[in-house]
Amino acid sequence: ETPKPPVGRFAPSPTGALHTGSLATAVASWLMARSAGGRWLLRIDDLDAPRQVPGMADDIMRALELFGLWWDGEVTRQSCNREAYQHCFNELLATGLVYPCGCSRREIAQAASAPHPDDDCLPYPGTCRDGMREGAAVRSWRLRVPPEQVCFHDLHKGMICQHLGERCGDFAVRRGDGEIAYQLAVVVDDHLTGVTQVVRGEDLLPSTPRQVYIQGLLGFARPAYCHIPLVTGPEGAKLSKRDNLVSHHLGSWRGKEWGVLLAVLRFLGQDPPHDLVGAPCDEILRWAAGCFDITRLPDAGRELVVSPGR
Ligand code: GLU
Repeated sequence: ETPKPPVGRFAPSPTGALHTGSLATAVASWLMARSAGGRWLLRIDDLDAPRQVPGMADDIMRALELFGLWWDGEVTRQSCNREAYQHCFNELLATGLVYPCGCSRREIAQAASAPHPDDDCLPYPGTCRDGMREGAAVRSWRLRVPPEQVCFHDLHKGMICQHLGERCGDFAVRRGDGEIAYQLAVVVDDHLTGVTQVVRGEDLLPSTPRQVYIQGLLGFARPAYCHIPLVTGPEGAKLSKRDNLVSHHLGSWRGKEWGVLLAVLRFLGQDPPHDLVGAPCDEILRWAAGCFDITRLPDAGRELVVSPGR
């Protein structure tokens, strides 16, 4: 049996403009899918309303088009998927593993051990496992985690294991106001759209064992994962949302998109030949898909310097 072509995706949150880091993720996921003759989907992760910036979803799509990163089919939006999330939440409820929690962030911070340096989640100490304190309002619905490791194989990072109980504890799958948490929403979306390949930044690596655990409970197939190193600022500093905004500079790069794309390919460890300088984006991408080599992805994050015109 010949393996089915993969279905990849790019899932930006419209909380800011496309920057060189998110562009690198988009290109990496596009290449992984296209180089294997697969499909590539676009999803806008717009559940977190307060953090969204109006116009950004369109801004991101225009930037992808400009670089020739065309997606297949309709763009999906998380905000249109709430019914499916609720359905899966109910299925988790039916397993008996979900319970309401009345703890505030502050209470958790006081009771929890320090977060792991790679993770912003405070390990939940399990305060409400056996019932909430009387009179407390429900602030979240948490999924009980087993006291054991969850492991998966990452195409770039190799075997990744995480002890869910120690690392994050029982984690939220739904907020008190009814909004579904990222960890559950992503799993449902990827399942519903038939995604078989998740390529994304390594900032999401700590979340993946949680998502793998949810997939198992819901009986969903596990996609292949590939977490790519992050674009950093100078000397490894975290790239801020204000740095390297690709889509804000679209105007100044028009006609010089190739310079950005070649820099992204070099960041991804690929080695575009000199005769692609000045070439149209689709030609550059066709070359890159033709000889994409995952083993050349960088081991650690680094700077991505774009100097249009060179
Ligand atoms: N929307 C998420 C982000 O922009 C990515 C979700 C994912 O790739 O699973 O960080």
